[in-house]
Amino acid sequence: MKKFALIIAAALILSSFTPLHGNNTPSPATPSPTPSSGKVPAWLQGPPATPSPAPTEAAASAAPDGSTPAPTQSGDPNQSPAPAAASPVPSPTTKPGYVKAGTPEAETVKVPILLYHHISEEFDLTNAISIISPRDFNLHMTAIKTQYKPISLKEYVDFVNCKDGSKTLPTNPIIVTFDDGYLSNYEVAYPILKKLEIPATIFIVTDTVGEIGGKGKVNYSHFTWEQAKEMQDSGLIDIESHTNDHIKLGETDIDTVNYELRKSKYLIEKKLGKTCDMIAYPYGSYTDEAIQASKKAGYNVQCLVGDDATNIDYEVNIPRDGVMNLTRITVSGTMGNVNVIELVRKAIANKNID
Ligand SMILES: [Zn+2]
Repeated sequence: MKKFALIIAAALILSSFTPLHGNNTPSPATPSPTPSSGKVPAWLQGPPATPSPAPTEAAASAAPDGSTPAPTQSGDPNQSPAPAAASPVPSPTTKPGYVKAGTPEAETVKVPILLYHHISEEFDLTNAISIISPRDFNLHMTAIKTQYKPISLKEYVDFVNCKDGSKTLPTNPIIVTFDDGYLSNYEVAYPILKKLEIPATIFIVTDTVGEIGGKGKVNYSHFTWEQAKEMQDSGLIDIESHTNDHIKLGETDIDTVNYELRKSKYLIEKKLGKTCDMIAYPYGSYTDEAIQASKKAGYNVQCLVGDDATNIDYEVNIPRDGVMNLTRITVSGTMGNVNVIELVRKAIANKNID
């Protein structure tokens, strides 16, 4: 009940925002489709090449001042309302500048890290804590591409660790990550990320790689090592560790902790031919002992956030906090009709810099 109330409260708060980034458009402002292969799913396609001569219902109902009417036209509770508020329109004021590593201003650049899980049409309010619909995911990515400068987690780590001033960071960066390694990351997210040229890090559970949903120990299918390799080799996606068995490292003995850390790192490095030095703790569960064990095992980057999608007190990262306690903004299907840009703005506002 508390969760439901929070969702309603969040929806009410967010619905009161006036969109700052432009007018409503007849269709979700997916950019012009530039599919690189012939098997782009329908929901990934942008608007038709030939503009429709007649205005749509959504366009006709837009307020004269360009604000967005409340999206109440959907009768299906499982479907997100038309996310007109998420329609990204380029704003000249969001052109990124850059800061140089080691300078005072570089230490406090606010860096949001988004966390996604599974992407599926099966989303509904009972399972939405870690699922988002393909349509909403596409809208989110399109919006952040327009409003922010997506960078990879590795780029951020390199910047934080840069001692000679040779690295730069956009003043409005954003980072996309996924946990668990679901097949939908490969089938749904990867084409969108390629289309928009958005880098991402996927933290995988090595013992569930290639498992078929409902048959093994997982509910949803996970991508295979071959698919992981294809994504890794693209240069756009980085595969890192989410342990071997997805257990709570904060609630197990140190021998198991070491096994989880080391086996997952070993498998990723062996199967993908890359260094694995980033870990995201399942359930955000860890202890000081687990952190020390991670460092010893060779993890130089740690994400300590939990998976509480009802937590609206998200924060973002700043370079001077380092990369051993990175916080992320969990995005889920319950936020499918929420303007992700407003969510990020709120997280940025929550970050106090003394
Ligand atoms: Zn997980």
